[in-house]
Amino acid sequence: MYSFELSEDRKAFQKAARDFAENEVRPLNGKFDDDWNTHALMSEVLKKAAALGFMGLPIDPKYGGSGADGMTIMAVIEELAAVNGGVACVIGDTWFAQTPIVIAANEEQRERFLRPLSSREKANLGCICMTEPASGADIEDPRMKLRTVKTMVREEGNQYVINGVKMWPSNAGIASHYVVIATTDPRKEDAGSCILVVEEGTPGLSFGKIERKMGMPEDQNREVVFDDVRVPKTNLLGKIGDGQRILQTTVAYNRLGAGMISVGLARGAFDYALNYCKSRVVGGKPLIEHSLISAMFADMAMEIDAARLLVYRASWALRKRDPHRARYSDMAKVYATNAAMKVTTDCVQVMGSYGYSREYPVEKYMRDAKIVQIYLGPNELLRQLIGESL
Ligand SMILES: Cc1cc2nc3c(=O)[nH]c(=O)nc-3n(C[C@H](O)[C@H](O)[C@H](O)COP(=O)(O)OP(=O)(O)OC[C@H]3O[C@@H](n4cnc5c(N)ncnc54)[C@H](O)[C@@H]3O)c2cc1C
Repeated sequence: MYSFELSEDRKAFQKAARDFAENEVRPLNGKFDDDWNTHALMSEVLKKAAALGFMGLPIDPKYGGSGADGMTIMAVIEELAAVNGGVACVIGDTWFAQTPIVIAANEEQRERFLRPLSSREKANLGCICMTEPASGADIEDPRMKLRTVKTMVREEGNQYVINGVKMWPSNAGIASHYVVIATTDPRKEDAGSCILVVEEGTPGLSFGKIERKMGMPEDQNREVVFDDVRVPKTNLLGKIGDGQRILQTTVAYNRLGAGMISVGLARGAFDYALNYCKSRVVGGKPLIEHSLISAMFADMAMEIDAARLLVYRASWALRKRDPHRARYSDMAKVYATNAAMKVTTDCVQVMGSYGYSREYPVEKYMRDAKIVQIYLGPNELLRQLIGESL
């Protein structure tokens, strides 16, 4: 039975995420911006997240995970992002990299890849390598049929050899498993597409500098270089030609994660700004008693709830394999990320210069919200796809 109601099990996961975010992450907020190129703080946070079982949350208990369903995962992401969007992104990106394995791996591969990715002893992160220097949105655009992918795979004996460069992947350089979207020949379009898993330490795998970004300093983004990287044939997920199908299913699931990070970001900023406006006196009365400000909060509350419901609807549609599930997922991603950008910007606005100050937490929610409109399918691409599907 799949319902909007959180079962006792789901509530327990949600509470564990809230406690972790409040106790282990919130006290460090404000320090992550200076940690962007060392990730020393983040590695401590991730060790604790792994010990609590968050890394393997979506993975079947048969391989050491918790087997949480989509609604539970969404509830957990919201709690993490309400405190820190970057931490939610790093953990969510590990689940993103696990998705193609969950969808397409055979039994031997599941045992080999999913078990370490569920580890509680060590924070084994996943990294999905999709974007390239010359092609981002086009790789996610099913109409482009992966023609723009330049990361090449060739067969040599019982191995595949990978050559190419990926740009921006989350957890690059610190992940244990790299899930790579590649092609045997871009002229073959989808028929040449493939997804392979490369384990950390494989010769020929290297990384560029850590990118410095507007927000999400908790997330480590680097160029990933594959220079004659050799993997056994058993590291291919599915078969050559399955890459596009696996990728499209993977992004449909993970756009919900982006949507829910957005709901969490909006809620975190909203809660702080609302509290602030109850005590800040302007024009002789608390800000919240000014009808214009109160109406802004009413609009924000509606946007957040509407975004959350769209994500839940899309999660339910994916679960029951509704024929419109890809559209619902795109709709949830676009709506929720736009809502987060609007809500976090309005929260800065109602707090005046204090909202704009790094001494207060609200501006970071706004900086984090911006990228979610861009990654996992820029909203312009997704609106185009939604329009065409109508
Ligand atoms: C914090 C962060 C985390 C990331 N994590 C990952 C990751 O884990 N793995 C990974 O592979 N990549 C990751 N990325 C990369 C991200 O997914 C891409 O940057 C994104 O897909 C956009 O690609 P691009 O930057 O090349 O922009 P482009 O593809 O050049 O697009 C630029 C802009 O053009 C517009 N546009 C694009 N397509 C269309 C269209 N069809 N119609 C109309 N307008 C359009 C949009 O406004 C878009 O923002 C991450 C990036 C960041 C910053």
